[in-house]
Amino acid sequence: MQITEPSRQIDVIHKTDVLVVGSGPGGLAAALAAARAGVEVTLVERFGCFGGNITTVGVEGFAWYRHEKTVEAGGIGWEFEERAKAMGAAVPESQSLSYELDSEGFKLVADRLVEEAGVTPMLHRMFVAPILEGDRITGIITESKAGREALLARVVIDATGDADVAHRAGAPVHHPPREELQAASVMFHLAGVDKTRFMEDVKENPQTYADWSSGEWTVETDGKEDAMFSPFLKKPFETARKAGVIPADLTTIAGTWGAVHDSGEMTYMNLVHLGNCDGTDPADLTHFEIEGRKQAMLAIEALRRFAPGCEGVRLRNFGMTLGVRDTRKIDAIYNMTEDDVRHEARFEDSVGIYPEFIDGYGILILPTTGRYMHIPYRSMLPQSVKGLLVAGRATGGDRVAHAATRNMACCAVAGQGAGVAAAQAVRSNAELDAIDIAALQTELARQGVRYS
Ligand SMILES: Cc1cc2nc3c(=O)[nH]c(=O)nc-3n(C[C@H](O)[C@H](O)[C@H](O)COP(=O)(O)OP(=O)(O)OC[C@H]3O[C@@H](n4cnc5c(N)ncnc54)[C@H](O)[C@@H]3O)c2cc1C
Repeated sequence: MQITEPSRQIDVIHKTDVLVVGSGPGGLAAALAAARAGVEVTLVERFGCFGGNITTVGVEGFAWYRHEKTVEAGGIGWEFEERAKAMGAAVPESQSLSYELDSEGFKLVADRLVEEAGVTPMLHRMFVAPILEGDRITGIITESKAGREALLARVVIDATGDADVAHRAGAPVHHPPREELQAASVMFHLAGVDKTRFMEDVKENPQTYADWSSGEWTVETDGKEDAMFSPFLKKPFETARKAGVIPADLTTIAGTWGAVHDSGEMTYMNLVHLGNCDGTDPADLTHFEIEGRKQAMLAIEALRRFAPGCEGVRLRNFGMTLGVRDTRKIDAIYNMTEDDVRHEARFEDSVGIYPEFIDGYGILILPTTGRYMHIPYRSMLPQSVKGLLVAGRATGGDRVAHAATRNMACCAVAGQGAGVAAAQAVRSNAELDAIDIAALQTELARQGVRYS
């Protein structure tokens, strides 16, 4: 059965040069970069804080791939870590030369960055429809407690992660069936860890990346990763299955811990993996939020019983929402390929470099060698819709390319590129597919980005 939704008049409440929808590492970087390039920017976000998965899911490992020889773009991604450190919202990360972002503290970091850059903040507004004039997007319609409202812009950047704007505007997207998508996760943080005891046990029984390849998962590495330390937790859950604490067929509870704080908090617990979840289907989201919380509590019970130092732990909090890794990706003017991310791709229209870090779809390659790739501007340009760029994890590319580009620091590289490109299109009155790439790269370099 279907009904007809009546058409209606909607107030235009706001006009801007660049409108960024979604404020994860991609959107936040895009908004800051565009504002710093001298245009008016508005950042729209459905939740009550900026930061995307960092703050709403609790994904704190921003650059856990970084080792001595890792070569990176710098730019706003680097600044996220530096500002978080300066504001007491980061601690040293356990497996790398990086800092783990504090998911709560980063809310304040993002607020500060948005305010300083002069970006107009709009929280609690959900994008629901594009405003189109022919094949050009000229704004968006949001839904909120205030009802429907229209926002107009000269350029829209879709940083929703799910390509919501591009998809609804009619741009072609790839949307794999749920069984081919990466697992979703309910993330959580703990209180009450005996840090000394826990870390003693980690030292006595060190886990490595080779341990990822056992039981449920097989992970392809380059070999050089296998003996390296990984903050991996599996044994307590195996013991719990044998003891009947976790059902014997629930073999996917395992994964990594993030940071153990002096206060007894253990954060970024990435232990629950929920396959067959399509993050664009609210029925799936409902089912897996509830199922994920159940599994998280089983994991906590197993830690209490079988992980030294965790005897007194309790749930501190779940992420504000289920963590979704993988949904739609645009069919871009250029779609990145497995070959690009495995073989140091070089592009004339590079907006920034990203180290050879591939994590996902059963592959783990760490950038321990200094190898890196270029991220091409064209992978953010959707087909068939003018005035629109896509930043973050929905940029164009195949599965293995996505295993690299989905990472938060790479989303920030692309986002910064999209922001500067949008600003340039506005300032020079050019179409997005006709901007001056040399000028784009000059501004990115001025903003501290290495692009070659
Ligand atoms: C459990 C989990 C663990 C991960 N671990 C790591 C890790 O350790 N390191 C790493 O680098 N990456 C990790 N990732 C991947 C990484 O978090 C994402 O790929 C990355 O955050 C994507 O950035 P983004 O800016 O594209 O989107 P997101 O971070 O998803 O941000 C999108 C934003 O858009 C908003 N939004 C969405 N739709 C709308 C709408 N219709 N209207 C308004 N706002 C909207 C959302 O609320 C959100 O704030 C992990 C992901 C998950 C789920």
